[in-house]
Amino acid sequence: MAKNLVEQITNMDEDFAQWYTDVVLKAELVDYSSVRGSMIIRPYGYAIWENIKNALDTEIKATGHDNVYMPLLIPESLLQKEKDHIEGFAPEVAWVTHGGDEELAERLCIRPTSEVLFAEHYKNIIHSYRDLPKLYNQWANVVRWEKTTRPFLRTLEFLWQEGHTCHETDQDAHEETVKMLEVYADICERVLAIPVVKGQKTEKEKFAGAKYTYTIESLMHDGKALQSGTSHNLGTGFAKAFGIEFLDRNGKLQTVHQTSWGFTTRIIGAMIMVHGDDKGLVLPPVVAPTQVLIVPIAQHKEGVLDAAYELQQALKSKFRVGIDASDKKPGWKFNESEMKGIPVRLEIGPRDIEENKVVLVRRDTGEKRTVDQGNLETELEKLLEDIQKNLYDKALQHRIKKTHAVKTMEQFKDMLAKEGGFIEAMWCGKQGCEDRIKEETQATSRCIPFEQERLSETCVCCGDGAEQLVIWAKAY
Ligand SMILES: [Zn+2]
Repeated sequence: MAKNLVEQITNMDEDFAQWYTDVVLKAELVDYSSVRGSMIIRPYGYAIWENIKNALDTEIKATGHDNVYMPLLIPESLLQKEKDHIEGFAPEVAWVTHGGDEELAERLCIRPTSEVLFAEHYKNIIHSYRDLPKLYNQWANVVRWEKTTRPFLRTLEFLWQEGHTCHETDQDAHEETVKMLEVYADICERVLAIPVVKGQKTEKEKFAGAKYTYTIESLMHDGKALQSGTSHNLGTGFAKAFGIEFLDRNGKLQTVHQTSWGFTTRIIGAMIMVHGDDKGLVLPPVVAPTQVLIVPIAQHKEGVLDAAYELQQALKSKFRVGIDASDKKPGWKFNESEMKGIPVRLEIGPRDIEENKVVLVRRDTGEKRTVDQGNLETELEKLLEDIQKNLYDKALQHRIKKTHAVKTMEQFKDMLAKEGGFIEAMWCGKQGCEDRIKEETQATSRCIPFEQERLSETCVCCGDGAEQLVIWAKAY
């Protein structure tokens, strides 16, 4: 039984896509629903999301933002107001056409994102520079009619937060865009142990309706990239379309400058694909719903369960501690806790009790050690910190190993086919080359990294003068 449970997970190097599906289902993160492309987030998956959400919400509030809630439905005429925006989103919009039996006079769209709702509201509540900045955020679900879907990575409906802000000047909007990208990078690196590259999206890849888009990009175990959070300077595009104006400090009528930024449940998919292994999930301690699982050994013997529960009581004010007192065999419990990615397993049996010791096993390395119960709290604290750091370091090493600088298209194709990962190459800035690279290699431009390097003077694709270094990759 214990063995079967693990054998059901496909080996990740054999079939990474199947491994991913096995893990999200067997670790009980999600279940499929009867609506194609929609997922049920189960308690264990939702608890992970809540930990991510709480950490991010704390930072959003600490940087001066207020949470609000906007309606789910958007009238078609409202969505049409900003031309680039509707063009970008039209293919993925779901429409409500009927209320009961009655056909609606105007179709309502289920929000794919809420820029236009915020813009309409801001027009009503902003009149003077005294009303600025407006720093709003909402936690919500959105719907995008995707053709191919996978749990967390691409689903018709997903959860996210979307920040929407208004500012007096372009400089203020720019600073906000940078600030929130930094918040996302911090959540990825400190909370999820996922190293990111910060940069700007090309014109082709930027958000529909934005002046420019900043992004954080991370690299998965299989060498594919995943966009992990985006922050947009919207400029005055939406504000002009909606007439969001204010009297400035000199009594002159001005248009506000806006930003928007979003972070989604996709990041759970990234976390799985960055840290997971052939035994299943590997969760960073900061987000793990259970950080320490106590497994009583020979629990039928007198005093064992009592001692296990006492330990749980003693530790629970400092750590998220679970206990598996079911009648399953210890080996089964070990496998299950490994599959669920619980950072530390704590074993306690009759002999440990006699010697006032416990055994700690870490999920990331499998390392096992015996510690005195007197030092347990300090040991666990250190161990969890160490696991968090180790996961980050391992992911960073992997990314460094899988980042390749190339100067010709031959090298580009060769590296991508053989090694995958991030390809660093110079680009002339023309969309034609970006399109051709995608056509010939399936790699898309991930970002123009803020940390630039001059690999050569010519575009990898056309040989014309190069403007910037771009990171390219196949992406989720
Ligand atoms: Zn070129």
